[in-house]
Amino acid sequence: MSDHPELSGKLPLEFFRQLPKTDLHVHLDGSLRLETIIDLARSHRVELPAYEPPELRRVMNLGQNCGSLVEYLKAFDITLRVLQTEEALSRVAYELAEDAARENVRYMEVRYSPMLHTRLGLRLTSVVEAVLSGLRAAHDALGIESNVILCGIRNISPESSLEMAELAVAYKGRGVVGYDLAGAEYDHPAKHHKAAFQLVRQNNINCTIHAGEAYGPESIAQALHVCGAHRIGHGCRLREDGDLLHYINDHRIPLECCPSSNVQTGAVRDLASHPLKLYQSLGLRVTVNTDNRLVTDTTVSQELWHCHTRMGFGLKEIKSIIVAGFKSAFLPFHIKQAYLRRVTEDLERFSADGSIRAASAAPPALEGVPRDGSRPGAPATVEKAVN
Ligand SMILES: [Zn+2]
Repeated sequence: MSDHPELSGKLPLEFFRQLPKTDLHVHLDGSLRLETIIDLARSHRVELPAYEPPELRRVMNLGQNCGSLVEYLKAFDITLRVLQTEEALSRVAYELAEDAARENVRYMEVRYSPMLHTRLGLRLTSVVEAVLSGLRAAHDALGIESNVILCGIRNISPESSLEMAELAVAYKGRGVVGYDLAGAEYDHPAKHHKAAFQLVRQNNINCTIHAGEAYGPESIAQALHVCGAHRIGHGCRLREDGDLLHYINDHRIPLECCPSSNVQTGAVRDLASHPLKLYQSLGLRVTVNTDNRLVTDTTVSQELWHCHTRMGFGLKEIKSIIVAGFKSAFLPFHIKQAYLRRVTEDLERFSADGSIRAASAAPPALEGVPRDGSRPGAPATVEKAVN
């Protein structure tokens, strides 16, 4: 054993909490505080299987291996029960940003599907605005930048995906920066939702797709070549197709890896056998994310710490994952450059021996950068017709 913290794999979790970070793949409805679910259920008279945190945690399988994506998604049946009012949506968005800010996440892209929050009659636009207002309040109070990715759901319907795509178009330049396809991957190919992707891409909106998590590399190829995804969510099974892997590498297509979640859904056997290390060693643009802070019971710091302690990543590699996160953000290029300059400088304070140099001065604000990353002065022209 070495005394050198990095060589012995002993950089502490606290060290990772202090690094500047992104979280590009985090679901709003999987990232509530457990106490908030109980609180919201009590005040809105919503039925829960348990009202004590330890019992509710157990019933919802939080942080447990579920064996499959479909089993893992069952916890969302409970979280969605309490996410049906504007007040609840705003609060949960704010708290998510607060939790992220506490571990020095500088930039976050929160995803969810508005159609899952209309059970009590909320309008889709009210859902979107409630979430944006919570994120905006967190930005004003805590400085964390957050944008939104709206999701279609594979196992609902192509028509509803198109409706979510229209919503993304309507909110382009107002806090929504991307479109995603989530839900059960097996038996629900992305190509069925092609019209939704055509619409968002015709309006120059970024898209990402959950792929290669509960299905093979064909699903990743379809996400890229049929739907035109700019990033891939998970991509665990990309390692099964070397040719596609090289294509993704050559085109610098980012992978949104979520290691603990991948173990819990059975996409990978355990953390040590996660393909993240292989992907990075081959030069792929890999990012590390939470997926679901509550359901997976994790943080970005913890995921990076797992990379260090369970997958053998050294600090240099961890820093390159962090930089890849900022490079992969759905933000205009000039804003990313500003982030990258600041973050690269900040990362130099962190040494492999576990020491952290004090920051020389408070980081300057990213001047002239609108919160939603839109280009100042550019008209938010949208084209709704699909011809
Ligand atoms: Zn996800």
